[in-house]
Order: sequence, then structure tokens, then C-alpha cells
Amino acid sequence: MSATATPSAVRRASAARVVDAVKVYGAGDTEVRALDGISVDFPAGRFTAVMGPSGSGKSTLMHCAAGLDTLTSGSASIGGTELSALDDRSLTLLRRERVGFVFQAFNLLPTLTVAENITLPLDLAGVPGDRDWISALVDTVGLYDRLHHRPSELSGGQQQRVAVARAFAGRPDIVFADEPTGNLDSRSGEEVLQLLGDAAHRTDRTVVMVTHDPVAAAHADEVIFLADGRLVDHLQDPTAERVLERLKAFDTGGGRTT
Ligand code: ADP
Repeated sequence: MSATATPSAVRRASAARVVDAVKVYGAGDTEVRALDGISVDFPAGRFTAVMGPSGSGKSTLMHCAAGLDTLTSGSASIGGTELSALDDRSLTLLRRERVGFVFQAFNLLPTLTVAENITLPLDLAGVPGDRDWISALVDTVGLYDRLHHRPSELSGGQQQRVAVARAFAGRPDIVFADEPTGNLDSRSGEEVLQLLGDAAHRTDRTVVMVTHDPVAAAHADEVIFLADGRLVDHLQDPTAERVLERLKAFDTGGGRTT
């Protein structure tokens, strides 16, 4: 598998990147610099967690990197494609074909079955999808016996596993996960995090996860820390203890983690 066969010394290609990214909300007295000249590279095939105090710009970074929002200045690219160069239609197509999303609230459609939810993005795009890939995904998330159930018949953890399968169904280059374990008990959360890590490594896809939870962040290959819209630190092969230590340093600086 290329994810493990690649020597760590070899620099990985970038799945997504922002360079000198600035995002300003409002103007005058109410101006907020949510991103203040940040540059971040999300290497292909890696699972990166984004952490930082409340209001440090985590969501803004994710939304701008994923092409859900635009930067005030600087650049954002996915797989080498500069997002600001795309018109709305091309951007929608790029998101549909190359980006997957997992949200805190699962966001499954209640009237569809598990199987239909998983293939929904492909069905909306009018593409058949890769049956072997989807079958392997269903296997990975352990939902074969639930394929014809509705989301309401599943536990929260199972629903989030469906959402993970849906995010990877179209073989995206990169999956963005926004507090994916925020609504789960710790055991279900562990399962979903394990799954995100497995999916990233087994399929050589890139996962970027915003989280406030050091235990969740410890599942990532790397954690980056934001403060006041800037990148202030990063940690390779994190443990929950080491993540917590770094966060405490922010707390003593007056920050608050959410
Ligand atoms: P985090 O995800 O780390 O909590 P956010 O990216 O949500 O941080 O927010 C960064 C800053 O930008 C905060 O000060 C927040 O209040 C502000 N902000 C975020 N979204 C908007 C918006 N739509 N309008 C105005 N200010 C916003």
C-alpha cells in the first residue's frame, strides 16, 4: 500500500493547501480577521487534526480549504487546482468529485436507507460509482447487515459510520470532518476515529479533522494548532497527553478550547 510504502523522508504531494490565507469578516469596528496570513499544507494520504481555542479560525480554515467559503486574500488549492480561479459551477463540481465531508450532526437523509445515503452524492452527480470500492467501504464501516435500515433505526455511532462511508464513496482526494465525534459517546467516537484513520491509510486518502478533543486528535498522524487565525504549533504522531499539554499552554495565554 502506497501510504505505508512511502518513506517518511519523501515529501508527500499536497492534497490541499492554503498559502498566506487571510479571511476578514465585517468591516471597521466589527472587523474580525478569522485567518491572519496562515499557510498550511495537508499532505496526501495523511490524517491531520486541527485544534485551537474557540474563535481561533479552525472552522474558517476548513471551510476555505474545502471551497465552501472564499478567502479575502491568499490562495487555497485542492490537488493543485487553485480554488479562486474556478467559477461557482466548476467549484461545485470539484467539491463533488474530489472532496468528502463528515459533520458533527451526521446529516443523513432520514427517508433514505443506509445504502441510499452512502451513494447519495454519486446519485446526485449522476455517476454510477465504483461498486468494488463501495462494497469495501461498507465492509470497513461494518454495516452490511444495516444497508436497508433507515438512519433512525441506527445508533449515533452507526449513523456516523454511514456518514464516513458516504464521504469516501466517490473516492475523493480529501475528506474534511468537522467535530465528527462531537455527538457520540466515547466508545462510538473511538470507532469512528479508528475508521477515519483506517480509511485514510488503507485507501491513501487525506483526512482533515477539526476537533476540540485531545483524545480524538491523538488518532491523527499530525495535529496543527491555531491561535488568532495563525498556525502556532504542530505535533507529529500525537498522544492525547501531549496534545493536552500544548492546549494548556494556550489556556495559560487566556485562550479557551471548545
Ligand atoms: P473556531 O472554529 O476556531 O471556533 P471560527 O473559524 O469559527 O473559529 O471563527 C474565527 C473568528 O471569526 C471568530 O472570531 C468568529 O467570531 C469569527 N467569525 C466566524 N464566522 C463569522 C461570520 N460568518 N461572520 C462574522 N464573524 C465570523
